[in-house]
Amino acid sequence: MPLADIRPYLEDSRRKKYALGCFNVFDTETLEGVIEAAVNKKTPVVCAIYEPQFKYSDMESFTDLIKNIASKTDVPVILHLDHATELASIIRAIKCGFTAVMFDGPVGASFEEKVEKTKKAVEIAHLAGATVEAELGYITRVGVDEKASQENIADPKLAKEFVERTGIDILAPAIGSVHGMGEQKAAINLEMLRQIAMSTNCYLSLHGGSGVDDSIVQQAIDFGINKASVYTRLSNRAIERVKDSLSTGKGDISAILNEVRNGFREVVEDRLEVLRSVNICNPANGTCHYCTSEKYCVSKASSPLVSDNQPYIKSSAIGSMSNRTYEDVLNNVSSLIADYVKNK
Ligand SMILES: [Zn+2]
Repeated sequence: MPLADIRPYLEDSRRKKYALGCFNVFDTETLEGVIEAAVNKKTPVVCAIYEPQFKYSDMESFTDLIKNIASKTDVPVILHLDHATELASIIRAIKCGFTAVMFDGPVGASFEEKVEKTKKAVEIAHLAGATVEAELGYITRVGVDEKASQENIADPKLAKEFVERTGIDILAPAIGSVHGMGEQKAAINLEMLRQIAMSTNCYLSLHGGSGVDDSIVQQAIDFGINKASVYTRLSNRAIERVKDSLSTGKGDISAILNEVRNGFREVVEDRLEVLRSVNICNPANGTCHYCTSEKYCVSKASSPLVSDNQPYIKSSAIGSMSNRTYEDVLNNVSSLIADYVKNK
């Protein structure tokens, strides 16, 4: 299906008390690992691209790849811009087809400046149908300012004002988690989360999920978290697997890159279980939550999901899990060629 709107799934997560998994991707292996895991767990997934990557990568080509893979995948893929500091990034992301953006505003901005800039981001993104997430308080980062994590916790009163004045869809309140934390030792202020959930009506997101103990992650979901970002755990597992592969002295680069994909897939599957984000997209359960719109539902779609002539050849789970098999794709291409020859 095409890249999905996050809203129906946030609403679903709110009703059923699970959280959508949000995972950072930056190349083919990480992307495939994340999407394969979501396909295996039959659940929507958020693929996040961190703003600094916009400077170093050909984002237009990478997002073409993401859209192409999403179009052949049976679970909703949401493409999310992570922690943007500039409005220009929001505009570029929207042009690339992102369906969700996160805006932090300029570093060090005052509350008033943050409100004004975020309002602008919301105006732009909503025109294009994309959702906006914004951070309040400040979520610190390991090795940079982690010691300040407790001093920067979001205030429930300000959260209410911020949400009302900006019109954001998702709030990422700082509640004690820290970006980049590999050990599960973050001190989460669940009481503050509870108060924020009660004082605002928007969806809530947890960042720095790698450093939070599983039981606390689940309590946070019970208290209102609808979306949770995890990256460090994925990165650590991929590195472990690459090291193991290198230590055998046999692997060539393709095998090593495969370890990155496998590491991401393993950990994303594990995290989706913890987030209770499993079997959400399962028509076999009698209900199909792929999308609120019937035309995007794989079980009801009348038009082919794959219409281009570039068959996506996969040795991994994506190809086999999709209900459009490689043969379907080839048949589709063959009939296009036949039509072309006939009409010539
Ligand atoms: Zn974050």
